[in-house]
Amino acid sequence: MKLQKPKGTQDILPIDSAKWQYVENLARETFKKYNYGEIRTPMFEHYEVISRSVGDTTDIVTKEMYDFHDKGDRHITLRPEGTAPVVRSYVENKLFAPEVQKPVKMYYIGSMFRYERPQAGRLREFHQVGVECFGSQNPATDVETIAMAYQLFNELGIKDVILHLNSLGNTESRQAYRQALIDYLTPLRETLSKDSQRRLDENPLRVLDSKEKEDKAAVENAPSILDYLDEESQAHFDAVREMLELLQVPYVIDTNMVRGLDYYNHTIFEFITKVDKSELTICAGGRYDSLVEYFGGPATPGFGFGLGLERLLLILDKQGIELPVEESLDVYIAVLGAGANSKALELVQAIRKQGFSAERDYLGRKIKAQFKSADAFHAKTVITLGESEVEAGQVSIKNNQTREEVTVRFEDISNDFAAVFAKIK
Ligand code: ATP
Ligand code: MG
Repeated sequence: MKLQKPKGTQDILPIDSAKWQYVENLARETFKKYNYGEIRTPMFEHYEVISRSVGDTTDIVTKEMYDFHDKGDRHITLRPEGTAPVVRSYVENKLFAPEVQKPVKMYYIGSMFRYERPQAGRLREFHQVGVECFGSQNPATDVETIAMAYQLFNELGIKDVILHLNSLGNTESRQAYRQALIDYLTPLRETLSKDSQRRLDENPLRVLDSKEKEDKAAVENAPSILDYLDEESQAHFDAVREMLELLQVPYVIDTNMVRGLDYYNHTIFEFITKVDKSELTICAGGRYDSLVEYFGGPATPGFGFGLGLERLLLILDKQGIELPVEESLDVYIAVLGAGANSKALELVQAIRKQGFSAERDYLGRKIKAQFKSADAFHAKTVITLGESEVEAGQVSIKNNQTREEVTVRFEDISNDFAAVFAKIK
C-alpha cells in the first residue's frame, strides 16, 4: 500500500487555503448579489444520473468516470460535474417554485472527479464553483450569468480572460447542422484521429472539440453551426450578443466550440486564458432547456456554468496577482515558567472570547524562541507573562512592530480587551 496521495489529487495546505477561502467567499458574495442560494448535493450519484444526461459518448462518460459498484452492487460514480446532480436534485425535491419565486437560482462549491491524465491544470479530484438558473428562457438570463462570471474575474484582477461564445441552436437547428457536418467530415474520415472517427459515427459535433492536431486541421473549414440556426435560434443568439455589447462584456465568436457535455442548446460559452502559451478554459457553461424534462420534471429552461478553482488559482499565480489574504494573529503570549501556565490559558481564552485571535507558548521554551514564534505567526502584539506578572496581576503588552508597550491589569484584558488593543495597536 502506498502511503501517499492518489495520482491526480492535491493536498490544500493551510498556507494555500487562505487563497481558496478568499476566492470562495468572493464567489459567494458575488452570487448573492444575483440572488443565488447555495445547494449541496452528494459527492457521488447513481451512474445513470450522469451517464445519459452528460452524454454516453462524451469523454467524461466514456473515459473519465470514477465509477464503482458499492457493497449493495449499486453502480455509483463520483460526480464529474455539477449540473446533472443539481438538476436531479431540483426535480427530486420538486423545487419547481411557484411563479413568484422564479427563476430558481442555485450555486455550488465542491470537489469533482474525473479519471484524467494528470498535468498542469488537470487533476482527478478538482474543485468547481458553479451556478444553475432554472425557469428563464430570456436571453437576459444568459447574459447576466455570463456577466456574473466576468464580474468575478474582474474583482479578482485577472487579466486576459476572453469570452468565447457560440450557439448550438435548438434541436431542429442542431439536426440540420449535424447532417451538414457529417457530409463535410465523411470524405476526411481517414485523416481524423481514431477517437474522432468514432465520434463521427456517434456524436459528430464532438469532433469540433477535439484537441488532436489532425482533427483541428480537418475541421478548420467545417461548416459553421451559425449558418444553420433557424429563426428562433438566430433571434436568441442575436439578443445575447446585443445584451453582451450593452453591458460591455467583450467576446469572440467561436463556432468550433461545442463543449464537453451533450445537454446544451442555444448559448454556450467558455472563458479562456493563456497560461505559458497554452490555452486553458477556466469557466464554461451554457443553456440546457431540456435537462429538467429529461430528469422527469416539467419542461423548464436552464442556464449555468462551472468554473475550475485550481485553474483560477493557477492563473492568479501566473499573472502575479496577490490576493488580500491576511495571515496575522492579534496577540501572542510568551509564557515564562510553569507558574504562568494556567494564567496564560485563562488570558488567551478571555481574548479569544472577545473576538480576537490569540496564541501562546505551550512548550516552555526560551524567551527568544518564543519571540521568534510571535514573528512567525505575524503577531500584532506580544504579552510577556512570567510568574512575577502573575503575582502582580498585570502584564505589559507590546506592539510587535513599533515596540511600544503599555502595562495593563488582567481585569482590563478579561473585561475589555478591545480597549487595551486599541491603545497599543
Ligand atoms: P477541458 O476541455 O479543459 O477538458 P472540460 O470541457 O472538460 O475542460 P468542463 O466539463 O466544462 O471542462 O468543466 C468546467 C471547468 O472545470 C473547466 O473549464 C475547468 O476550469 C475545470 N476542469 C475540468 N476538468 C478539470 C480537471 N481535470 N482538473 C482541473 N480542472 C478541471
Ligand atoms: Mg475535459
